[in-house]
Amino acid sequence: MILIVGGAGYIGSHVNKMLTEQGYETIVLDNLVHGHNEFLKWGKFYNCDLKNKDKLEEIFEKEDIDTVMHFSSYINVGESVTNPSKYYENNVTNTLNLLDTMVKYDVKRFIFSSTCAIYGVPEKIPITEDLPKNPINPYGKTKLMIEEILKDYDTAYNLKSVCLRYFNASGADISGLIGEKHEPETHLIPLILDVCIKKRDDIKIYGTDYDTFDGTCIRDYIHVTDLADAHIKALEYLIENNESNEFNLGNNKGFSVREVIESAKKITNCEIKVTETPRRKGDPAILVGSGKKAKNILKWDPQFVDIDKIIKTAWNWHKNNLEE
Ligand code: UDP
Repeated sequence: MILIVGGAGYIGSHVNKMLTEQGYETIVLDNLVHGHNEFLKWGKFYNCDLKNKDKLEEIFEKEDIDTVMHFSSYINVGESVTNPSKYYENNVTNTLNLLDTMVKYDVKRFIFSSTCAIYGVPEKIPITEDLPKNPINPYGKTKLMIEEILKDYDTAYNLKSVCLRYFNASGADISGLIGEKHEPETHLIPLILDVCIKKRDDIKIYGTDYDTFDGTCIRDYIHVTDLADAHIKALEYLIENNESNEFNLGNNKGFSVREVIESAKKITNCEIKVTETPRRKGDPAILVGSGKKAKNILKWDPQFVDIDKIIKTAWNWHKNNLEE
């Protein structure tokens, strides 16, 4: 049985769907603060906060859990700078509750949602796993802390983990059943699509003076279905090798903010009003990840490398689910 912590959220729900379709039995644990009721379509569900250690233990006592996948963390970089306490409490302390419960109940497999934010401003592109880890905000620091804690838990308790360092998760399941939704929304693609459904007036480009070919930031957009597939491959890796590891989930290919907007115009056939604004704090000019290690070792084979394909799936969900 696989416990999906944060399984009512954007990425967790996509992983839950894919695991179920591949015959795995899942349990979702979510406090529904940022997770969505309507994404609870597969497996069993427990409404539980990771702060609640007693309830967590009850669930581990009752269920035959052999693997935990952990998606529930706060992800807003700006907020992590202004309210670090909230981030250290949820992303670190609450995760420790989860890990200690796993140790108590002898659950030995853990798959962790890490992030390219642990690298900070990278010294070279594409980013490989061995580059220095210098996160520039509390969000990235919380993720790096858990990666470090996991090394110690492997040594001390033989808890084996795979850390998956996501680049920019994007797109939606092709079924149209689940998609990207955050409250408040801060991510580029859903914000652009909100303009198409007239929920917002314009899309703001945060900075046009970056040292890139068109002056806007370049990011590596990874389709959420490709991310989900990497989790299943990570699970198979842990089962076969019983050894901890970490992988970048990047496509080795970046798109600028302007390219993403152009693609959205083409796919949706909408006019999209663009407003150029100053840079957002803490945004490196280019973040592109090498997925080579994941491809070699996990045999990960991403299918949605093209930005048009990604936006097509995002639009398919967005236009039917987020209209006012
Ligand atoms: N971005 C933007 N306007 C927005 C939201 C984001 O120009 O309204 C830019 C942002 O500066 C970054 C890219 O789009 O370069 C992706 O941002 P997002 O917040 O989606 O993901 P992040 O890279 O922060 O994980």
